Amino acid sequence: MKETLLQRWQQVTEQIDKACADSNRDSVTLLAVSKTKPAQMIVELAQAGQVHFGENYLQEAAEKMAEIKDLGASSSATQAIVWHYIGHIQRNKTRDIAENFDWVHTIERDIIAKRLNDQRPDDLGKLNVLVQVNIDNEDSKSGCLPSKLDKLIAAIKGYDKLSLRGLMIIPSKEGTDAFERTKKLFDEIKQAHPELTQWDTLSMGMSGDMDQAIAQGSTMVRVGSAIFGARE
Ligand SMILES: *Cc1c(COP(=O)(O)O)cnc(C)c1O
Repeated sequence: MKETLLQRWQQVTEQIDKACADSNRDSVTLLAVSKTKPAQMIVELAQAGQVHFGENYLQEAAEKMAEIKDLGASSSATQAIVWHYIGHIQRNKTRDIAENFDWVHTIERDIIAKRLNDQRPDDLGKLNVLVQVNIDNEDSKSGCLPSKLDKLIAAIKGYDKLSLRGLMIIPSKEGTDAFERTKKLFDEIKQAHPELTQWDTLSMGMSGDMDQAIAQGSTMVRVGSAIFGARE
């Protein structure tokens, strides 16, 4: 029999709990990646207790956020949703991101960080940000090269409306020890910058590799298809 959305979500949370137990890890945050999936599914999961949702496309996310507001006008569950932007960021889209999201995982250049900082509305509190690292130095991949990380972190540290929380990666398919190397980078930066008191998030692992990512130190897994089913 085909599993329902709630059953798949439950299975993923159990898989995460088991991966945590197997490697003596504290809890890992589940980010439900809802790109291409309808608002109704987000509402259903939010009502079951899922808090964090990730979107990649701004227009699509804006439409769903508006729809969810209508669907769940009286629901505290939908009001509690924490929105994460995990897509590529074009320079002319930073204002919409700064105004509508709680987290951004895909900072790769100072100019984008600066714009998000300048455009973050005062009444929303700080925007949580992660630096996306191009850990395998791939030409085709987004992300800050490891060699340029120090400079980018130094710049973001100066932005008072951003809270720098950690790193994010999308490893290359053949990537073998990318999780391990990113965890090492993450720890080195923490050591070198004790003033980054919010440095606590390592966003890595997706539907196909969340167990390995958790074993290697991920604190947040971004899971789409294992919860919502395959995308078109
Ligand atoms: C789509 C996406 C995911 C989720 O991928 P699945 O393999 O469906 O779990 C995670 N992270 C990013 C950045 C994505 O774009």
